[in-house]
Amino acid sequence: MTTSLQRGISSMIEQIDAPIATFFTSCVHCGLCADACLFYTETQDAKYTPIHKLEPLRRVWQQEYTFWGKLMSKAGLSKAVTDAELAAWEPLVYDSCTLCGRCSLACPVGNDIVYMVRVRHP
Ligand code: SF4
Ligand code: SF4
Repeated sequence: MTTSLQRGISSMIEQIDAPIATFFTSCVHCGLCADACLFYTETQDAKYTPIHKLEPLRRVWQQEYTFWGKLMSKAGLSKAVTDAELAAWEPLVYDSCTLCGRCSLACPVGNDIVYMVRVRHP
């Protein structure tokens, strides 16, 4: 693992607090947040869905904080976040989100997606 990747993952681990863990746990994958995001509705490109903007963070949470995620990670059955994925992810978080909050308002289980995106902003 490269130093920059290790730094990126460590920074995500530090940023995963109790609210973020709860949001990932309670997501029911309904897709309503996607329909609320103009970056997605204007492009219909799945990479702009709010939940995709959180995908590397979600994977790190799963691998570091959940029982099954840790087990699968140890057994080599889950895919670790890569340098290329982090590089592709940065513009999605920094340039493709206005922190408008529409996704958070749309979420039926009250997930504050914009809070999770915001932790990735400087
Ligand atoms: S806060 Fe970001 S991800 Fe959520 S709807 Fe607005 S632009 Fe999309
Ligand atoms: S609206 Fe909420 S529950 Fe539905 S996919 Fe988005 S974050 Fe998950």
